[in-house]
Amino acid sequence: MNNTGITRPVDNLGRVVIPIEIRNQLGIKEKDKILFLTEGTNIILRKYQQECVFCGKQKGIIEFKGQKICKKCYQEIKGVSINEEEMP
Ligand SMILES: [Zn+2]
Repeated sequence: MNNTGITRPVDNLGRVVIPIEIRNQLGIKEKDKILFLTEGTNIILRKYQQECVFCGKQKGIIEFKGQKICKKCYQEIKGVSINEEEMP
């Protein structure tokens, strides 16, 4: 885990501003969703992405080996068989 050294106050509604440097670094834009995870006493904020890691499609998303992927790309992957002798 990387300690940025940046702190922000929690306001009376429980809101915290994500520093602009971090938003820019992670490509977090207005209206993007943030997923809250907890680990012991830590709060982990993660950019919530419900889109295919390959084509960016946002509908019909399933999880495949820990990645979000659309059914079309999943079928493409499942349909491919690799000839080991042709691999570099
Ligand atoms: Zn896809």
